[in-house]
Amino acid sequence: MGSLKQIPHTRIENLSFRLYSEEEIDKISVIHITKDESFNSLGHYFDKGIYDLHMGPMTSHDNDLCKTCNSSYFYCSGHFGHLKLPSPVYHPFFIDVLKEILQRVCTYCYRFQASAKRGVEFFYETKFLNAGFDKVEVSTLVQKAVNDPTEAAESMLDEEDEEENDRSRKKTTSVNEIGTIISELEKEFSKIKKTRVLRLRYQDTKFLIKNVKKSESIFATEEKVLQGLVSLTQPYLTTEQAMEMLRNCYKSDGRILKCLYPVLCSSNIDNPTDIFFLKKLLVIPPKYRPCNTVHGRMIENEMSVLYKYIIKWSKCLRFLKSSTEESEMPEALKFLLKELKGDTIVEKRFNIMCLLQGSVDNILDSEINKLNRVAQKGIRQVIEKKFGLFRRNLMGKRVNYSARSVAAPDPMLGVDEVGVPLDFAMKLSYPVPVTPWNVSKLRKLVQNGPTCFPGALIVEDEEGRKITLKADDVKQRIAISKSLLTRTESCVKKVNATKIVYRHLDNGDYVLMNRQPTLHKPSIQAHKVRVMPKDRVLRMPYANCKAYNADFDGDELNLHFSQNEMARSEAQHIITTQNQYLTPKDGSPLAGLIQDCIVASVMLTVRGKFFNKEDYQQLVYIALSDLNRKIRLLKPAILKPQQLWSGKQIISTILLNLIPEALAKPTFNFKTTVKVE
Ligand SMILES: [Zn+2]
Ligand SMILES: [Zn+2]
Repeated sequence: MGSLKQIPHTRIENLSFRLYSEEEIDKISVIHITKDESFNSLGHYFDKGIYDLHMGPMTSHDNDLCKTCNSSYFYCSGHFGHLKLPSPVYHPFFIDVLKEILQRVCTYCYRFQASAKRGVEFFYETKFLNAGFDKVEVSTLVQKAVNDPTEAAESMLDEEDEEENDRSRKKTTSVNEIGTIISELEKEFSKIKKTRVLRLRYQDTKFLIKNVKKSESIFATEEKVLQGLVSLTQPYLTTEQAMEMLRNCYKSDGRILKCLYPVLCSSNIDNPTDIFFLKKLLVIPPKYRPCNTVHGRMIENEMSVLYKYIIKWSKCLRFLKSSTEESEMPEALKFLLKELKGDTIVEKRFNIMCLLQGSVDNILDSEINKLNRVAQKGIRQVIEKKFGLFRRNLMGKRVNYSARSVAAPDPMLGVDEVGVPLDFAMKLSYPVPVTPWNVSKLRKLVQNGPTCFPGALIVEDEEGRKITLKADDVKQRIAISKSLLTRTESCVKKVNATKIVYRHLDNGDYVLMNRQPTLHKPSIQAHKVRVMPKDRVLRMPYANCKAYNADFDGDELNLHFSQNEMARSEAQHIITTQNQYLTPKDGSPLAGLIQDCIVASVMLTVRGKFFNKEDYQQLVYIALSDLNRKIRLLKPAILKPQQLWSGKQIISTILLNLIPEALAKPTFNFKTTVKVE
C-alpha cells in the first residue's frame, strides 16, 4: 500500500441541491420526443418515440446500439430525452410553497402583505442571522440598517470581512439556531392580516379560487378564459396566470422572496420563480423503464404509459390552442376529444390541463393524487424512505455465503454443534482445490451435482471460468468429474493451477453463528455443522442460549460460512464454542444447563431412581463418547437382587473420568440458594 499522501481525497464542505432550468434541460436532453407510439408493426422503435435509440437501448437481446454514444446495452448508461408541454404545469414538489406565496401577495401591487418597513426589517434580519450574528446583535444592527440602508449595507459587508478573520463568532449561533429563528420570523411574517389576497385551495391538480370578487382584476387579461369558465362550478387559477403573478411578485419583492425561499437563489435565470413550473419534462432513459413480457404479451412500464399519455394530450391541447378547424385534426385526436369530458372547447382545454398536471404529478410523486394514479411509484418514491434507493440499495448491504432462520432447541446435539437444514446445506458452498489426494471424493461430489447431497454446485477451471453443474444433465457432470485433474491446454505449464470444486456445506464444517444484537464477543461463535435432512429450522443446543441471549419464541439466527482454510482454522481453534465458556466481562460461566436439561438432571438424580447395568453404561458412554481412554466405572449401589446404580452415581462417574489423570483432584466447594416456588 502506498503512503497516505498518494491516496487522492477531498473534504466536502457543503452540498446543495437545485432544479434544472429549461436551458439546462435542453443541454442534457439528447432528443425531443414527439411521438406517443412505441413500436411499429415490425416491433422496431419509432424515431422520436419514447424508446428512441438516442436515449440508449432498452434491452440487451436486440443488440441495438445507442445512437448517442454508440455503445451496446451493457456499456451505455442511458441518456435523457425531453418532452415539451403545451402550457406550463405546477411543479408537484412546490405546490405548497406556491400556494403560500400566492396567498401572501397582494393581487394589485404584488407585494407581500406587510408594511414596507417590516419587509425591510425581515430582509436584514435573515441576512444578519445567516452571517452568524446572535439574536441580540441582530436587533440593533437591523435598526441601524433600516434607518440608513446604504450605510448599513456597507457596515454589514465590513462586519463580514472581520468575521473572516475572527471565526469564533460563528460558534455563538449554530446552524440549527439560525434555522429556528428564521422559521419564527417566517411564521410572524405570514400571520399578518390578509386583505386583497387570493384564497386558494389545491384540489384535483388545480388551484381553486374561493373569493372571486376581490380578485377579479387578475382575470381581466384573460377574459376569454373567464367567459368560458362561467360554466365551471368554481373558477380556478391557470398556470399561466400563476406564473405571471409570481414573476410580478419577484419584480416587486424579489429580495424578500429570496430570503424566504433560498432555492430561488440557486439558478441564474431571468425569472427564478419559473422553477415552480415545468414547461419541459425530462424523460428517463428506456433502460430504466423496461417492458415486461407476461405470457408472451408485451406490457409497458407504468412510467412509459404516463409519458405516452402526456404526449397524446399535449398534442390535443396544441390543436385546440392553435384554433385550427376541427376537420384538419387527425382522426385519432378527434376520437380522443370526443371521449373527453366537457361540452365546450374551453372546458375540454381545462380538462386536458388537469390530465397533464395529474400525469406529471404521478411521474414525479405518486403520493400526491392516490386516486387516479397510473404508476405506483413516482421518482420520489424510488428515492426516498426506507425502501428507496439510498437506504435500501446504497446504505444496506447483503452478505453472501450466509443463511438465516428461526432457531429451535435440540438437546441431542453436541454443545459445539448446530443443526443446519438440508436446503441450506445444498445452497451454501465451499471452494475446494482439486488435488490427487481428494480427487476421488470430489469426483463423487461433482457427479452428485447440485440436487443430491452431498454434492457440488460449481466447478471453476484454472483460468477462473465458472461452470455451473446442471441438475438435469448427468452426462455433463460425469464429463466434468473425469477431467478434474486434467489441466486445460492453455494452463498446462502454469504452476499451482488447479480446478476448484464448490462443494455443498457438509457435516463437520465450521460455521459462524450470530444472533443480533451482537453485544459481546460470544454473540458470534463457531459451531460444527450437522446437516438435518428433515428440519426447516436451525437447531441449537440449550447450553449456548445465554451467550446469544436467545430463547426459542421465534428468535432468528444468522449463519456465515467462512470461505477459506485460514478462516476455517480460526473458526475451529479460536471462535469455537469450546473456547467461549467464560464471559469476557467478569469471568463467570456463560454456557450452562437450562430448561429441558434441568428437568432431565432432576429426574436423573432424584432419590430412589436406579438404573440397571445396561442403562448406566449407556448413559455414561453418551456423555463421554469423545474421551480417548478407558472409562472408569463405579461399583453398583445395590447388588442384590439385581445390580443397580443410582442417578447420582452416573454424574459421579462422568466427573471421575473428566478429571485429568496426572493432576491433583480439584478442591472446591460452594453454597447456593435455590428459590422454590
Ligand atoms: Zn448511450
Ligand atoms: Zn397592494
